[in-house]
Amino acid sequence: MDKNLIIYNSLTRKKEKFEPIKSPYVGLYVCGPTVYGDAHLGHARPAITFDLLYRYLKHLDYKVRYVRNITDVGHLENDADDGEDKIAKKARLEQLEPMEVVEYFTHRYHENMEALNVLRPNIEPKASGHIIEQQLMAEKIIEHGFAYEVNGSIYFDVEKYNEKHDYGKLSGRKLEDLQSNTRQLEGQDEKKNPFDFALWKKAAPEHIMRWPSKWSEGFPGWHLECSTMSTKYLGEQFDIHGGGMDLLFPHHECEIAQSTAANGKESVKYWMHNNMITINGQKMGKSLGNFITLEELFSGNHKLLEKPYSPMTVRFFILQAHYRSTVDFSNEALQAAEKGLERLLKAGKILQQLIAEKESTVNIDELKANCYQSINDDLNSPILIAHLFEAVRFIYLIKEGKEKINAKDLEQLKNLYQTFVYDILGLQEEQSDNSEFTSDLIDMILTLRLEAKKNKDFSTADKIRDELTKKGITIKDTKDGFEWEQN
Ligand code: ZN
Repeated sequence: MDKNLIIYNSLTRKKEKFEPIKSPYVGLYVCGPTVYGDAHLGHARPAITFDLLYRYLKHLDYKVRYVRNITDVGHLENDADDGEDKIAKKARLEQLEPMEVVEYFTHRYHENMEALNVLRPNIEPKASGHIIEQQLMAEKIIEHGFAYEVNGSIYFDVEKYNEKHDYGKLSGRKLEDLQSNTRQLEGQDEKKNPFDFALWKKAAPEHIMRWPSKWSEGFPGWHLECSTMSTKYLGEQFDIHGGGMDLLFPHHECEIAQSTAANGKESVKYWMHNNMITINGQKMGKSLGNFITLEELFSGNHKLLEKPYSPMTVRFFILQAHYRSTVDFSNEALQAAEKGLERLLKAGKILQQLIAEKESTVNIDELKANCYQSINDDLNSPILIAHLFEAVRFIYLIKEGKEKINAKDLEQLKNLYQTFVYDILGLQEEQSDNSEFTSDLIDMILTLRLEAKKNKDFSTADKIRDELTKKGITIKDTKDGFEWEQN
């Protein structure tokens, strides 16, 4: 398999040929959800973006180890070092054990991802299961002189780090600008500088998620979990780190600083960031009333939604935009995606029934080359989809007898559809297993009826027709068999 993938690296701000550190092995780490509420549209985008990447890397025969974490501790409000962990807050308000909150929403997240046909990562580590590793990494950073202790809390010394390394290399921010822009906030006075961030935080008496450490009973800082777990499962240097653009600063900037401070070297070769989702042109936010969970989207149960949208419609809609562009959700756009997806999948069924001829009047080699070219160009899914609609056009023209296809090309076109539509874009028919089973059964019964007719056993044939009619199945006898419809 030709490996010609080019990806945009947020670190160098350039498109680069993807060359794994130790081909064919690829280490991929993606920042996962904080599990204190239902997954919403904002969760669907990185999940689908990096699912596309994961599927394509596997298609290219790379051996991918995909790690996506679950944040279940230390994720503080407004990303500040003070305040309450969102999971702990939910647990306190609903009188639950924090791990009950975590398990409940992790389970629901998995259900949503499965509906969207997002493949599971190979490893899904939880921050709460890696407290010791986080302490050890904090200790290493202290030993190397890039962190300090105050009142049982450990802070990363950004200024000190910046003397030796480049803090801000990912986000393009300069420390001098941060220094002049940040004010000393109340309650943050134990830090040397307001932009220093916590590696370990001493727990306030009311804080319920806490672990013992040599510094204090407390909890790890959010940025530290991703540095720790990526290092543990992918090594000190690995290939790709992904996440939403909203995580670029400070989360990923801090991750770079932590790993470099602990291990003395850059840990990630390619940083990839997906852009954000807006709703009717507005930023999504709880206070704006336009916050739509995936559950609500699938059921249509939200005042902004005209109807329910199936998980595959949502997946197709997200893939219709390039991952580095913004996506605006609107009813019109979703309904257009729904129609487009239906056309694409229906053509896939017609393709299976096409009959090969001696010659071809369509160019499948060119179509295939175009498909690869678009996906290789930084996962350009909208262009890929445009080429697949060219395949749809061919399929209808061949069906109508206006174009011809030979056996070799037909096989190739079928492979192309399987590879790009189902395997790489991850699109699938949404018919439930149950209705597929029912439809197979009806086909089988009607085939038996056809045989009865051939054997001139008309009483059996009529009986089958009458019984199915009673069940709401309309049968139409055709020249070469039958057609049926469920009312
Ligand atoms: Zn992260």
